[in-house]
Amino acid sequence: MPKIVTDVGCPYCGASCDDLEILVSDDGKKILEVYNACAIGNEVFHHASSPDRLKRPRLRQPDGTYQEISYDEAVDYTAKVLLKAKKPLIYGFGSTNCEAMSAVGRVAEKSGAVLDNCASICHGPSFLAIFDNGYPSCTLGEVKNRADVVVFWGCNPMHAHPRHTSRYSIFPRGFFTEKGQRQRKMISIDPRETETAKLADIHLMVQQGHDYELFDAFRTVLRGHDIPDEVAGIRKEAILEAAGIMKNARFGMIFFGMGCTHTDGRNHNVDIAISLTRDLNTVAKYSIMAMRGHYNIAGPGQVWSWQFGFPYCIDLTKGTHAHMNPGETSSIDLAMRDEVDAFINIGTDAGAHFPIDAVKHLRKHPFITIDPNICMASEISDLHIPVAVVGVEEAGVVYRMDNVPIQFKKVVDPPEGVISDEQLFDRVYLRICELTETEPTWIPAKGHAKAPVTAGQ
Ligand code: SF4
Repeated sequence: MPKIVTDVGCPYCGASCDDLEILVSDDGKKILEVYNACAIGNEVFHHASSPDRLKRPRLRQPDGTYQEISYDEAVDYTAKVLLKAKKPLIYGFGSTNCEAMSAVGRVAEKSGAVLDNCASICHGPSFLAIFDNGYPSCTLGEVKNRADVVVFWGCNPMHAHPRHTSRYSIFPRGFFTEKGQRQRKMISIDPRETETAKLADIHLMVQQGHDYELFDAFRTVLRGHDIPDEVAGIRKEAILEAAGIMKNARFGMIFFGMGCTHTDGRNHNVDIAISLTRDLNTVAKYSIMAMRGHYNIAGPGQVWSWQFGFPYCIDLTKGTHAHMNPGETSSIDLAMRDEVDAFINIGTDAGAHFPIDAVKHLRKHPFITIDPNICMASEISDLHIPVAVVGVEEAGVVYRMDNVPIQFKKVVDPPEGVISDEQLFDRVYLRICELTETEPTWIPAKGHAKAPVTAGQ
C-alpha cells in the first residue's frame, strides 16, 4: 500500500513550507503524488524521481568528455585541489542543509579557503544595513496572526514565493486576523505592475532606482513635515494615502526584496527601510523582513556566524583568523580580479548567476560543481559530483526566511550509492587530514567516514 508522509518541508523557495504531504510507493522508493505544494514545489519532488538523475561523479577528460569516477576518487580530487590552491573559493549553499554548511566550514578552515554564499549576490547589502541599523523583525507566524497592514517593497512573492501570501501574509486567518484578507491592507511598491501589485489595495509604481527617496518621503510625512508634489514618480496624495494606512496599522509588516537590495542605493535602501520601521514603531507596532530566495539561504548566516563570526564573504586563507570585507572578499569581486585559483560551486548555479567575465576567470582553474542536477555550472566543470536532494532524500535543518529553524524530513532514499553534501565534505575533511598528516579535530557522524583513499586514485 502506498503511504503518506506528512509535515514534509519543501526545498525550494525561502517560504520553506513545512506542511507538504507526499504519497510514496509501497516500497518507499518512488514519489507518486505531492499535496499542498505550489507548482514549483511539486516539480522539485517529482524531478528527484527522474530516471535521468546522475548517480556517479563525472570527471572531465583531456578530450572534453566526461568519464564516471567513484566517490572516493572525487573526494581525493577535491581534497587535492583545495590543498594545492592558494585562494580556493567555495560558494553557493542556498540549496543544502545546515549540517552540510557546517561540514564545508570545517573543510574551508582546514584548507584555507574563502567561504561565501548566494547572499553575496542577493541580500548581502541587507546584511550591511542590518549590521549598522539593527533588524526589528519577527516570525512569519506573527505576521499570520497579527499583521493587518502588509507592505511588499521590491519583491513579487506571487512569482518568487508562491505560497507566501496564502500561508503567511495576506490570505490566512490568524489569531488576531480572523477575517484573513478582508482584515488586511496590502501595499505594493514596485516599478512594474507585478502579479503581487495587481493583488494589492495600493500599488505605488516607484521610479526605477529611486526607492531611497520614497522611503525618505514616508519618514518625512510620518514626522509631520511636508513633501514635494511628486517624489520618485509618485504623487504626493498617493504617498499621504499610503502613509495614512501604514500609520493606522495595529501590526504592520514591511517585506523587502532584491528590488531594494540591487537597485540604486542598495544597502542604503535597506538601512532607511529599517529606519522607517523604527519611525513607524512610534505610532504603531511594526516589523521588517527580507524576502530570502532559497529555502535555506538564511542557513549560512546562522551556521557561519556561529562558526566564524561572519555570515558571508569569509576569507579563511590567512590560516589564523576569519576576515570579512564585501567588495574585497566577495565571490564576484574575487573572480573578476582573477584572484581565485580553484572554485567549488555547491547547491547553486554560479554558471547561470555570475557575470560572464567572472565565470571565464574561474573557468581557467579547477572548477568543481556539487549538485544533484545538471546545471550550467556542472556543464563547464572539471568535476561534477551528484549528491542527495535535501528535503527529499536527505533530512536536515534549514532556516526559513524569518530565521526560524525547521527540521526537514527525508521522504525517499537517494539513488543507490549517492551520498549527501554533508557526507561528501566529511570525507573531504578526512582526506585533507590524511594528505597533510594532521589529526582530525572533528569526528564525522557515524557512517560518514570511509576507509582511507588510496593515493593516486
Ligand atoms: S511556496 Fe516555496 S517553499 Fe512553498 S511549496 Fe512553493 S516553492 Fe515550496
